[in-house]
Amino acid sequence: LPCHDKQGIPICSACHRPIEERIVTAMGKHWHVEHFVCARCEKPFLGHKHYERNGKAYCEIHYNQLFGNMCFYCN
Ligand SMILES: [Zn+2]
Ligand SMILES: [Zn+2]
Ligand SMILES: [Zn+2]
Repeated sequence: LPCHDKQGIPICSACHRPIEERIVTAMGKHWHVEHFVCARCEKPFLGHKHYERNGKAYCEIHYNQLFGNMCFYCN
């Protein structure tokens, strides 16, 4: 937008550069779509479902691997 206030441009929490395209807002921060990644495998979610734990985001596989509700014996 021509009237866009430059100070209003959100900053990516991963690379600390302004985000001018698609924005992901998660965990109270803004991210480039390609910089919002699983804390474990570092794959971008690209709009797919993610899981949050202790201020970090995880893909479904790694969230289940790390915090899944399987009991001690099943793990
Ligand atoms: Zn970024
Ligand atoms: Zn992952
Ligand atoms: Zn079990």
